[in-house]
Amino acid sequence: MKVVRAAAELRSVLEAPKRAARSVGLVPTMGALHEGHLSLVREARRSNDTVVVSIFVNPLQFGPSEDFRSYPRDEAADVVAADAEGVDLVFAPSVDEMYPPGRSTIVGSGPLGTVLEGASRPGHFDGVCTVVAKLFNLVEPDVAYFGQKDVQQVAVIKRMVTDLSYRVRVVVCPTVREKDGLALSSRNSYLSSEERQRARALFRALDAGRRSIATGENGRVAEVAMADVVAAEKGVELDYARAVEPESFDEPHPDGPVLLVIAASVGQTRLIDNLHVDPRDDRSARVVS
Ligand code: AMP
Repeated sequence: MKVVRAAAELRSVLEAPKRAARSVGLVPTMGALHEGHLSLVREARRSNDTVVVSIFVNPLQFGPSEDFRSYPRDEAADVVAADAEGVDLVFAPSVDEMYPPGRSTIVGSGPLGTVLEGASRPGHFDGVCTVVAKLFNLVEPDVAYFGQKDVQQVAVIKRMVTDLSYRVRVVVCPTVREKDGLALSSRNSYLSSEERQRARALFRALDAGRRSIATGENGRVAEVAMADVVAAEKGVELDYARAVEPESFDEPHPDGPVLLVIAASVGQTRLIDNLHVDPRDDRSARVVS
């Protein structure tokens, strides 16, 4: 496995597989790899000749008071983990390599990037679109892998792929969870053991919302059910708990599929999660583990 830091080297290493028309799969990450990331890598490995994992903590997607500086970084462990999964190439550029001095062009995420996570984190999805567009331009992957865990990111990226005519297929992989339902996240490492217990409230809230929808209640009732679970958990502060239509993130259609989305802070750590629920088929709401 090769670790490459320069964009020019990345392009030249990928020339041979491209000339041979070998499929290239890309897994974009910010590192601190866990089983959630690795599930994407395995999916990429199963279906492509060449697998590229990018590791880049993207400053553009962090707000000024957010955790860019303290975000967990462990490149040595990430390289070992990627190698063990049969990754061909790790692309780990510096900030200057990705964003040369004078950089001014931003890829805008549009209306989808201004609701929910976008409302709480202004500019976040423009940062995501910009870095993912750059990665698509550099790697020119046939397939790119993203996690359902960041469901709004998936929607924003799919929109960008259509709008900017990228020739890449976006594959979405299910959320990997701990046994008690907590979605794996690099930010879970911030949690004290007490906070880790409290963090279960996010999944318990989603499950309460799911049960609400499954018994025929509307999205508003599900939102109250989710908020109630969080309100009962000391030290967990709700940002939003919403029931939305899964594609548009607007109001859900009566009896149609519902996406339950939640964001809450556990102590200083902000966590997000979501669950897709189809009232016509309650099996869609099972935990993916
Ligand atoms: P990140 O390093 O947080 O930017 O995540 C890189 C990719 O891994 C994104 O597509 C995430 O949605 C995905 N990912 C993160 N956590 C999980 C998880 N628990 N299950 C599945 N995918 C995940």
